Amino acid sequence: MEKYDVVIVGAGTAGCMAAKVLASKGFNICLIDRKNSRSIGDKVCGDAIGKHHFDNLGLPYPSGEEKEGDIKGVKVYSPDKNSVFNISGYGLTGFIINRYAFGQRLLRYAVNAGAVLKDEVHVSGPIVKDEYVKGVLAVDVKTGKKIEIFSNVVVDASGASAVLRRNLPPEIGVETSIGKDDIVVCYREIRQLKRSVEDPGFCEIYLDQDAAPGGYYWIFPKGATKVNAGLGVSLRLSNPNPKNNFYMHVLSQDLFKSSEMIDGGSGLVPTRRPLDSFVGNGIVIIGDAGCQVNPIHGGGIGPSMMGGKISGEVIAEALEKGDVSSRALWPINVRFMKSYGAKQAGLDIFRIFLQGLTNEELNYGMRYQLITEEDVLKASLGEEIHLNIGEATRRIFSGLGRLGFLKSLYMMAKTIREVRRLYDEYPSTPDAFPEWREKITEVFKRAKRLFWR
Ligand SMILES: Cc1cc2nc3c(=O)[nH]c(=O)nc-3n(C[C@H](O)[C@H](O)[C@H](O)COP(=O)(O)OP(=O)(O)OC[C@H]3O[C@@H](n4cnc5c(N)ncnc54)[C@H](O)[C@@H]3O)c2cc1C
Repeated sequence: MEKYDVVIVGAGTAGCMAAKVLASKGFNICLIDRKNSRSIGDKVCGDAIGKHHFDNLGLPYPSGEEKEGDIKGVKVYSPDKNSVFNISGYGLTGFIINRYAFGQRLLRYAVNAGAVLKDEVHVSGPIVKDEYVKGVLAVDVKTGKKIEIFSNVVVDASGASAVLRRNLPPEIGVETSIGKDDIVVCYREIRQLKRSVEDPGFCEIYLDQDAAPGGYYWIFPKGATKVNAGLGVSLRLSNPNPKNNFYMHVLSQDLFKSSEMIDGGSGLVPTRRPLDSFVGNGIVIIGDAGCQVNPIHGGGIGPSMMGGKISGEVIAEALEKGDVSSRALWPINVRFMKSYGAKQAGLDIFRIFLQGLTNEELNYGMRYQLITEEDVLKASLGEEIHLNIGEATRRIFSGLGRLGFLKSLYMMAKTIREVRRLYDEYPSTPDAFPEWREKITEVFKRAKRLFWR
């Protein structure tokens, strides 16, 4: 019987980080991916990552072929393009990376630390016995042979496909399915341009509920004449086709005249608060599988690495104690919620609010700076959102017959404060969890009823 201390499914950013942490502590780690080792890291992505993630994780900054650009800030355009928020500052400076080269670096970290890589192995589900996850069922893609691999702890780091999470039985106690209204589907291309972008240091984000309902489209420069551009649409809204919209609204722009596609593809982003719990007996769920992405801009590389690091450290402690119950793994929840999950949940309320706005409301909101550029920066870092609504603004909006919009804004800010308070009370053990989960679920249900009229 093939058995390890930990089996990690998915050698993406989350899985490699968890494998690196655990293997460097001397544990026996099996890292599985359905891709060939040479393709690991090749993922449809916006390729943007903040510098602060490298600082927080103690990782060297990208350099050489891995770095394709420096980000000084982000420009956010209103649907009518009359307002542009120019946001720069520590949280929004960073890099445009070569995603493949970066993914290969993380894979090297894991393998050099001693993790055993099983590539071209497709996992189909967990092995569950006596209310514990004990291993995984898989197929060797090269031979077609069915295999079983056992371990004390299994980590689901399989990205948006969440192959283990989706197949867990109810007694494990984690959410298995994610609502369609919490998923954005994207189409993205990397294009060689015939002309230069205006400002290669700035990532551009365009809000437009017609072109990208419930999402946005982006143009991220990879140097002066290459871009990563894409468009994301919420799955909440009937049957969107992001590729059609991308061709219609983005590629039709002058910037792309005679440009050539280098790479194209689609991907899903879970844009919601993190799973309420990432752990069960013998199982931990991290990265996109655990919904650890920033719900506003969809940045998930940094948070997934953070999820990998935290889970690696806590799993190591649990293995040393010889207890891999959900109670022993619970500090993963507490540490992630404190360091990032609480901010992410607040931003999720902001996301739900934004998705309910019309283009007209977005135009007004940005034109009258109801939230300032500085506050958008703070919000993106997870700090409190302050509304910039004085008496003069109230009079203007009253004159425009749009007091309802201001009321929604107040409700959004109030709900974020309520969510923050609830996360301050995140249970330190599993005992109080059912009651906490009921409360948080109710707040999010209410927010959707309120903002998605
Ligand atoms: C279009 C798009 C744009 C994005 N832009 C950005 C951005 O600019 N910045 C940013 O920070 N984030 C961005 N993200 C999000 C970011 O890419 C993810 O949050 C991040 O990669 C999550 O890492 P992960 O390790 O959880 O999953 P992944 O990186 O997806 O890795 C999962 C791994 O699991 C493997 N796997 C899956 N199923 C199985 C199975 N059954 N058996 C074996 N192996 C399996 C896969 O092959 C893969 O290697 C974007 C996402 C998309 C879709």
